[in-house]
Amino acid sequence: MKVFGSSGVRGVVGETITPAFVGRVAKAAGSTWGTGAVAVARDTRRTGGMLADAVAAGLAATGSDVRRLGVVPTPGAQAYAERSGEPVVMVTASHNPPEYNGVKLIGADGVELSRDTLKRVEDRLLAERFDTVPWDETGERRRVDSARREYVDGLLDAVDRDALAEADLTVALDPGHGAGALTSPRFFRELGCAVRTVNAQPDGYFPGRDPEPVAENLDDLGELVRATDADLGVAHDGDADRAIFYDETGSYIEGDATLAALADAALDPGDTTVSAVNVSQRLVDVAERTGATLELTPIGSTNIITRIRELTAEGERVPVAGEGNGGVLFPGYRLARDGAYTAAKFLDLLTDQNASEAVADYAGYANVRENVGYGTDAEREAMLAAAEEYAAAAEATPTTIDGYRLDYGDAWVLARPSGTEPVVRVYAEAGERDRAEALATAFRDALVEAKTEA
Ligand code: MG
Repeated sequence: MKVFGSSGVRGVVGETITPAFVGRVAKAAGSTWGTGAVAVARDTRRTGGMLADAVAAGLAATGSDVRRLGVVPTPGAQAYAERSGEPVVMVTASHNPPEYNGVKLIGADGVELSRDTLKRVEDRLLAERFDTVPWDETGERRRVDSARREYVDGLLDAVDRDALAEADLTVALDPGHGAGALTSPRFFRELGCAVRTVNAQPDGYFPGRDPEPVAENLDDLGELVRATDADLGVAHDGDADRAIFYDETGSYIEGDATLAALADAALDPGDTTVSAVNVSQRLVDVAERTGATLELTPIGSTNIITRIRELTAEGERVPVAGEGNGGVLFPGYRLARDGAYTAAKFLDLLTDQNASEAVADYAGYANVRENVGYGTDAEREAMLAAAEEYAAAAEATPTTIDGYRLDYGDAWVLARPSGTEPVVRVYAEAGERDRAEALATAFRDALVEAKTEA
């Protein structure tokens, strides 16, 4: 697809993302969905109101009645769609910096649009094939103020409140000025947790930290955990579909360790779990140990969701899936990432142990990542041909759905062209740093040699 990537469409406001552009996206989506009601929600970005207005106008022009939900986390918008049977246009740029914004399309089932449906919307957008209606059939607009409240109520219904209330936990929360600031504090409080917050006022300038929940942005959260003696630190991205955790000592917990711990708790023998080709050895080991099947997809949650849909249709049980970036799915709850729900599932693990104990079994892996840049298409092609050859010759199990991943049983290496930069990325992971480095270096050397000869 040309316009829509794996998470809808995103960019810098005023450059690629303008009111006129998102209005056209809304017209294409409204035309594809047909008339009926469509909701519009947004995260806290400075430009969210402006772009949501343009989206609402585009939808009304195609005859859709518009429900304005205001600021809602993406999982809250998905909960609204599932409850009401109305699709949602979500104005968000997720974890991107403040100057970004974008649009994500959610179907009437609460799940982000499948690639097929998104492709139909994109075809209409590119051809400007909009089913606009005469003046007396344009959509009506109405405000709906209950989406956040109902989202939190739905979360509370979906978790084991009694066990958590009994555990008497303190949660340090950093919603990063994003949409989760309006829902997660209340959710954790109503779960019976004491809640301490930082960066918890919604603010589209993101003064306290950037929306991406990575360790370098989260020093305040570590501090807050230590200062308040909290049991767990929780950070969201801008639209709160992801959760990253800090343990009771105020130390960052790697997303891969979190995913492994959550999967270990959820998987039974015979189950299937789904992750992307850069999946950590920790999840590989958990699947192996529990007798579950691990399926890998190209990187990106849309690919994971598509695969879960297929597996579920085939009768497989997929209780948990996701990536090591804090984006975890519990398809039995909803086929969507949800930062608050993921945090509640992690809190479930803390009723009889500390957070550091909950992830101790999944520590002790070394990750290495290297980039090999290229200047010409010929160099890129030569490197990819070398990667294919290297994979064929290696005494390892290859996976070639997105780059070349080689599994050695105890360790793995992956070479994959970046989608956004002129580099081929080499990732490796092993129990010992030496082994991870050796795997990455050997693969990298093969690429560099091919590039030099090209
Ligand atoms: Mg997000």
